[in-house]
Order: sequence, then structure tokens, then C-alpha cells
Amino acid sequence: MPTELRIIAPDNSTHVAMTLIDRFEEINNYEFNLNILFDYTLNDLGEFDPIQPDTIWINPSLCKTINESKSEMLDPFCTGYVRDFTTTGVILHEFCHYATYNCLSAMRIAYMFRFPTNRLCLSEYANNCVEDELAEAMVIYITNPYLLKLLAPDRWTFFKKHFKSPTPTSTLQCYKSYMKFPVGVKEELKERWGIAFSEIEMDFVRLKPTSTSHRPVMV
Ligand SMILES: [Zn+2]
Repeated sequence: MPTELRIIAPDNSTHVAMTLIDRFEEINNYEFNLNILFDYTLNDLGEFDPIQPDTIWINPSLCKTINESKSEMLDPFCTGYVRDFTTTGVILHEFCHYATYNCLSAMRIAYMFRFPTNRLCLSEYANNCVEDELAEAMVIYITNPYLLKLLAPDRWTFFKKHFKSPTPTSTLQCYKSYMKFPVGVKEELKERWGIAFSEIEMDFVRLKPTSTSHRPVMV
């Protein structure tokens, strides 16, 4: 029998994703049969194939760490923002494909009917196709639902009807994520989305976005 590799204690970024998935399963009374496979030879950060609907593949060596974002200000990313290239974000993205082909397959169809042309330009990744848009919006609903409510209230309302997020929709919860955001993410939130945290109002406030330019699509 060939030797198998098992990881007993995952890295923190993987652990965060697994904890959110477990809470998602519990509060929604689902029973997942999900296999997360780490493949260091995979060409992409992650993959999901509906032909094998119980499995998601991840290449941890292509996932990024937040420290790298300091030198990559062009595409700032972090967990809880619209762009998350960490292992947490990549696992959750593929997990959302998994969920929308299993317990939430009716929601996937409903999303296509509800938003057939009204595309949500969250990120280059989300612009890839409507299924990636759904997965990316769903990831924010799972990690930082209050931010999704600010950015796209129609998507937030849609998800709320279909499942419970493991993260509460609250200003405080969003603030906790915001405090961990790299500078580049906070700047993009302000410039592109017109959202900033006001220490005076102790809440997120809307400003006029100073930049409306969207970065080119990256597949
Ligand atoms: Zn995808």
C-alpha cells in the first residue's frame, strides 16, 4: 500500500477556514462530506470540479501571506475583504463552490436568476464568471457579512434568506476585521468603495469614492 501523508495540525490560515466551515455546517444543520486535498503541484491556487462534488483541491504553495501584501499594494488582500489570496480565502472560495453544488444547489440556480446581468464587480477573481462572483460574495458573507451589507446590500439580503453566516453581521465584528486590514486594503476600501471607519461616529461611514477605475480582469 502506498505511503499516505496526513497533516495532524494544519497551519493557522487553514485552521481559520476549517473552523468557519465547521461553524457554517453546525448552525445551518448541514452534514458535509467534504474532502480538502492539498496538492503542491496544482497549477491554480485552488480547484473544484462538479464531477467530484465532495472534493476541493488547494495548492498551499501558491497561496499568499498577508506580509507579502505590503509589497503588493496593487492588489491588496486579506481575510474579510473582497480579495483574499491567503489559504483561508482560497479554501473558503472552493468550499463555496462545493456548498453551491451540494446543500445550496438551489441557491446557486436562484442567484443566476436573481442576478443574471447585474454583475457585482468585487474583484478580478469574482469577474471571472458568475459562479466565481457567487463564491467570492459568499466568502465575504461568511467572513465579514457587515462589509458585504455595505458593499452590496442586495447580495447580503439574498444570502440571508438562504443560510446563516458563521460570523455575525455587526459593526463591531466588521471593526475587528478592519483593524487587522493591511494599509493597502484600508486605502482601497476608502478610494474604490468610499467606505472608512469614523472614530467620531464609531461606525463605518460612506465617503465619495475618489477612484472608479477597476483593475483589469485577471483569470
Ligand atoms: Zn472559483
